[in-house]
Amino acid sequence: MSIKNNIAIFQQELGAKNCKLIAVSKTHPSESVKEAYDAGQMIFGENKVQEMTSKYEVLPKDIQWHLIGHLQTNKVKYIAPFVSLIHSVDSLKLLEEINKQGEKNDRIIPCLLQIFIAQEETKFGLDEVELFLLIQSDILKSYSHIRIEGLMGMASLTGDENQIRKEFRNLRRIFDELKTKESSNVQMKELSMGMSSDYKIAMEEGSTMVRIGTAIFGKR
Ligand SMILES: *Cc1c(COP(=O)(O)O)cnc(C)c1O
Repeated sequence: MSIKNNIAIFQQELGAKNCKLIAVSKTHPSESVKEAYDAGQMIFGENKVQEMTSKYEVLPKDIQWHLIGHLQTNKVKYIAPFVSLIHSVDSLKLLEEINKQGEKNDRIIPCLLQIFIAQEETKFGLDEVELFLLIQSDILKSYSHIRIEGLMGMASLTGDENQIRKEFRNLRRIFDELKTKESSNVQMKELSMGMSSDYKIAMEEGSTMVRIGTAIFGKR
């Protein structure tokens, strides 16, 4: 299947359920991104700052770039001028820096909080206690150049569908609970969960954004 065909199929499948497609183009060349763009795909996900900025520079400026990988505070400045959404925010320290860079660039930077839902110990993200402390902190409320628009999570890398479903369902529950804690810069409208191998389960459990790499661009 061509990239063009894959985009068409995903857009049709997701559009019917009001779920957004994030085409994860990490490690694939700009030519592949352009091919997907020409097929009508506007949102692309990258996990590395350097790779995202390089592609941003050579590709059409109406592409929306989402950062989906772990972000170091010293690299926020490189993406702050153009990033559309940062999916992987997992500390107040990082939010402080994003807010600072948002102010420098005279814009509000949309963010998702990454929540740890998997069994593996290597995955980044906040646990539930840290999340509720962060959401309710007064410092967060003073950050006027960020907007938290929802949550992101990755399920365990397992073939056990019940386990994956349980983890996504748990994230959905947290998302719903946080709707009662919204404030001026915290809204719960996006739930980023699901990748090539588990996006169908994620959508059944209420995902509003899926991050698809392999199933669009092929193996990395
Ligand atoms: C690479 C990546 C994806 C896409 O994974 P595929 O299995 O290729 O669809 C999604 N989310 C994150 C955070 C990733 O790093």
